[in-house]
Amino acid sequence: MAKKDYELGGELIRTWSTYVPEEAITEVSKTLRSGWLNTGKKEKELRATACKKWGFPYCVAVNNGTAALRASLATLGVGPGDEVISTPFTFIATNTAILEQGAKPVFADIKYDDLNIDPKSIEKKITSKTKAIIVVHYGGNPCDMAEIWKIGRKHRIPIIEDAAHAFGSMYKGNYIGAKGDLACFSFQVVKIINSGDGGLISTSKKRYYKKLKKIIWYGIDKEEKTTNLLNPFPKNFRGEVLGFKYNMNDIVATLALAGVNHFDEAEDKRKFIGERYRNELGDLKGLKLMKYYSDRKPNYQIFPVHVENRLSFAKSLHQKGIMLNINNRRNDIYPMFGGIRRDLVNTAKADKDVILLPMHSDLTESQVSYIIENVAKFDRLH
Ligand SMILES: *Cc1c(COP(=O)(O)O)cnc(C)c1O
Repeated sequence: MAKKDYELGGELIRTWSTYVPEEAITEVSKTLRSGWLNTGKKEKELRATACKKWGFPYCVAVNNGTAALRASLATLGVGPGDEVISTPFTFIATNTAILEQGAKPVFADIKYDDLNIDPKSIEKKITSKTKAIIVVHYGGNPCDMAEIWKIGRKHRIPIIEDAAHAFGSMYKGNYIGAKGDLACFSFQVVKIINSGDGGLISTSKKRYYKKLKKIIWYGIDKEEKTTNLLNPFPKNFRGEVLGFKYNMNDIVATLALAGVNHFDEAEDKRKFIGERYRNELGDLKGLKLMKYYSDRKPNYQIFPVHVENRLSFAKSLHQKGIMLNINNRRNDIYPMFGGIRRDLVNTAKADKDVILLPMHSDLTESQVSYIIENVAKFDRLH
């Protein structure tokens, strides 16, 4: 194959990486040798560590972020005939979870400047059938939670935060997931912490916590499970709640725990890159950064920007060995969500011009400089 015009050793610079701290490798070996692989003390340690680190009042661990969303909807009793207001500009999991519960996603518009759901649009979509609202902290840049919580309180509708991008992000001095009804996190491989697959749900309401523990394992709270010799079937199984098989096993929990323990290193690297992009690309004429607010702290899970001619931008940078990614299309156009292009002005604009710059904790400083240089060069020439 002909050599490409890469200036840095011919390696393609990826948009994402899968971050695995060394400790994860040694710790998983210990778990594998321990004789206990199912949900157990590692899972418990993971939850305790996450609660302490990010100020979660309660949390449960599950086997992926999509399961976290569905379990949260089930906890709120969302089912057939119900509407859930959500954002169309997200990975489809946010909205397939609503379909899994037999409910209908109702799409609100987003704000063009940060790609998060627009509280004003949420309020317009509320009907007597609205059972929940799901918001996504897009790219780890938090939503206007004060406005969203106000709407929730006014109409008595609970809020689920899809925090799959938002481990360690902060809103007005609190970590995402420390306040509010239910926040769903993901440990999927390209997320800031990964355990292969995995998820976490935080809540500040004890009654949600108690119900969640049943919903994630066949309707039985594993920690309260009691059996006796003559009847090994759990004595506390009453079969009153339909539960799923969403528990996190200890192999996965060991990986996730190592990720949580090394989170700060991964986050520092992302912060360094994010701040360089913001400082050094902020004045370009053809590229518009997201809006970042002074009362919020992003974790830079991804780095989306608006670029008018994003395809020629992507092709040109690819020639330089830099991979860019267009990751989310507006969800409303897919047949499973009705296949109707709703009248959502900002969603339509973002659907045409959002693209991700490389953002992950394995980028080197010289790679970041190289990316910035080439993005600026493209901007000057177009
Ligand atoms: C990754 C992701 C999910 C799903 O998480 P999984 O752990 O892959 O199931 C949900 N919502 C958003 C916004 C995501 O990026």
